[in-house]
Amino acid sequence: MKHESPITRRKSRQIMVGNVPVGGDAPIAVQSMTNTNTCDVEATVAQIKAIQDAGADIVRVSVPDMDAAEAFGKIRQQVSLPLVADIHFDYKIALRVAELGVDCLRINPGNIGRDDRVSAVINAARDRNIPIRIGVNAGSLEKSLQRKYGEPTPEALVESAMRHIDILDRHDFQDFKVSLKASEVFMTVAAYRKIASQIEQPLHLGITEAGGFRSGTVKSSIGLGMLLMDGIGDTIRVSLAADPVQEIKVGFDILKSLRLRSRGINFIACPSCSRQNFDVIQTMNDLEARLEDVNTSMDVAIIGCIVNGPGEAKEADIGLTGGSPKNLFYMHGKPNQKLDNATLTDDLERLIREEVSKRKEQEEAIIARSED
Ligand code: SF4
Repeated sequence: MKHESPITRRKSRQIMVGNVPVGGDAPIAVQSMTNTNTCDVEATVAQIKAIQDAGADIVRVSVPDMDAAEAFGKIRQQVSLPLVADIHFDYKIALRVAELGVDCLRINPGNIGRDDRVSAVINAARDRNIPIRIGVNAGSLEKSLQRKYGEPTPEALVESAMRHIDILDRHDFQDFKVSLKASEVFMTVAAYRKIASQIEQPLHLGITEAGGFRSGTVKSSIGLGMLLMDGIGDTIRVSLAADPVQEIKVGFDILKSLRLRSRGINFIACPSCSRQNFDVIQTMNDLEARLEDVNTSMDVAIIGCIVNGPGEAKEADIGLTGGSPKNLFYMHGKPNQKLDNATLTDDLERLIREEVSKRKEQEEAIIARSED
């Protein structure tokens, strides 16, 4: 049973990153970044495909020099996901990747240097409908702002972003999005809240250098969660010192828990205790691993006993309540059949996949009817 998200999103001006809309009423886009050597085309393409299979909408690739720019062109030809090129300072790299088919330039106009170079990059972007992402990071604030504020603050991050935005404004270029990242949750949240009321462009959310898989997930969930609850955020990247595929999974889990996007199975499971009638933790972990490929959104409740089982099962699309001698399986909130512990995980996987197939057939039938 689906519940609508109570969140009212900030109205932002929509931009297009390749064929993916960001901002406006578009779904919040989930993105990650490759961590391979960009010049290793084969490894980078393989990683982009893995990130895409995990459900990513957009992927960013760092392009530190001209060799990497040429490699970027080869990568572009082999993947379909919209690509953002991450560029610092060198305007020639931006011009080259624009020719080679980049979908978004992550470059700060204030770091490009001479005005003719800034104009060249902005004109190349404008001519090819390529948006720009301004990315301010607390770790690399301009020297003048470090002197003015003494240390990174939300105000300093916003002022830095506004300097870059002013340059784009002077060139009458409005197709941009902005990120203001710090590794400190309060600073990041305050900075985004401040800029959200000052500009109409979409915001790319992230807690930078959040940490390893566990601590980074917690930090990102809290920081991004606070902003998303405020309706702020049009695209997100969870930064983890981990496999980028995990960043996508955590990103979707954050959006799923706020009902802002659905993808794959939303599991509801009890922590288990001595009342459990089957091994909840093992069953839950096995199902999560076996059903990773499922994109259909669905709530599945796995609950160890009748204390909370029937209540959760009634609210979910599919539910299991532990019982003795057999467990009770629910479909669409109603008791459906009894399942034995000996074959429990296999039976659950089969029943969930049958339901996924039915839903896919129904969706295809609806699409076919609408195309008639
Ligand atoms: S639902 Fe039952 S098994 Fe699960 S934690 Fe609660 S009492 Fe324990």
